Amino acid sequence: MPAQVIKRRSRGFICINAHPEGCRLNVAQQIATIKAAKPERSAGMRSALVIGASTGYGLASRIAAAWGFGAGTIGVFFERPPEGSKTATAGYYNTAAFHEFAQRDNLPAGSINGDAFSNDCKRQTIELIRRDFGQIDLVIYSLASPRRTHPDTGEVFNSALKPVGAPFTSRTIELDAEKVVPVTLEPASEREIADTVAVMGGDDWNRWIEALLEADLLAEGARTVAYSYIGPAITWPIYKDGTIGQAKHDLDVTAYRLNSRLSSTISGRACISVNKAVVTQASAAIPVVPLYLSLLPLALRARKLDEGPIEQMGRLFFDHLIAGAAEDVDDAGRIRLDDRELRADVQADVSMLWPNVTTENLRAITAFGDFQRDFRRLFGFEVDGVDYDAPLETDVKC
Ligand code: NAD
Repeated sequence: MPAQVIKRRSRGFICINAHPEGCRLNVAQQIATIKAAKPERSAGMRSALVIGASTGYGLASRIAAAWGFGAGTIGVFFERPPEGSKTATAGYYNTAAFHEFAQRDNLPAGSINGDAFSNDCKRQTIELIRRDFGQIDLVIYSLASPRRTHPDTGEVFNSALKPVGAPFTSRTIELDAEKVVPVTLEPASEREIADTVAVMGGDDWNRWIEALLEADLLAEGARTVAYSYIGPAITWPIYKDGTIGQAKHDLDVTAYRLNSRLSSTISGRACISVNKAVVTQASAAIPVVPLYLSLLPLALRARKLDEGPIEQMGRLFFDHLIAGAAEDVDDAGRIRLDDRELRADVQADVSMLWPNVTTENLRAITAFGDFQRDFRRLFGFEVDGVDYDAPLETDVKC
């Protein structure tokens, strides 16, 4: 394709294209952040598999493993490549940039673009690991998907973001119209709950680990970590106590089971890391969360405590996953990276502002402008240092 000028195209709030150079700079910035946070000694991780590796927490994990530990990385994700004059998805361009920088810095990297829920994708990934990497030390499970096709039955499950048991009335931002409105969410049906657990619960994580064990690709002492969220009480009816919370509970149960399975077979470990709320394609889709994400950064920034995915993953990898790290988990055995978000003073600020936000004062008293910019940046737009008038090639190989 001839080079073209790429302007942001949106359907309402959502960006429907992506900017390769903006995505490339985002990845470069994350690499720089990890290199700056890296402790003097960070050996002991030769290779890591990241499932859901192209955006958000998964991409940040892959960068932390590669540039924080010099690890070879295998990334699995589901992204649309460029086609004709249509750009690829942001995750595709992020991965192309990841490979470019990994090659420059002699870090082994292999990627599989496919449906992680399928048996075929697991088979391909296992072949790639066996051929190019040998046994792996870490498996990060960071999928966020609205649906899953069951690999054996072909049944399609759609996840729902709904409360459980009773309707939930709160306030949210109607993102397209930029309005603060009351919202009542009806409770999920039994079917919707079960389907959400089928998509975002632990079954697929378990299948990945069993497949890797069977292929003898997990090194002695290997670990696996899946990501979860708890959040403050104002979001519990839609998150922790909602359909997605039920799926996360299933992930907790799976972590427990996998932990005993791995410890008895390879002296390995499985655990959950509870991460903070950040702007990603997945989190912006949850009702009520955009309003919360417009208030939380204000309270965190006022205390110099704000973090994005890469700072969170710096803490996960350097404080918890590094060889010799002290075991620092909560009563349920989970790593907690949401400690700053859940501080009483931070949440008091959020709760104080929450009822006062209106359509009229949204931009004045909240960080909604930053939320919107951060969201656009996920697609490579509004990234400092990019010349958005310069034509460029969209047909980048990943
Ligand atoms: P994200 O949307 O940024 O990334 C999702 C990743 O999953 C992408 O790499 C995407 O390509 C991949 N993916 C989706 N469907 C796939 C499929 N069928 N096959 C292969 N890959 C697929 O999401 P995120 O917000 O980084 O979420 C990742 C995890 O972190 C989730 O478990 C989420 O619940 C958890 N988490 C998120 C937040 C938050 O605020 N964003 C907070 C705490 C925990």
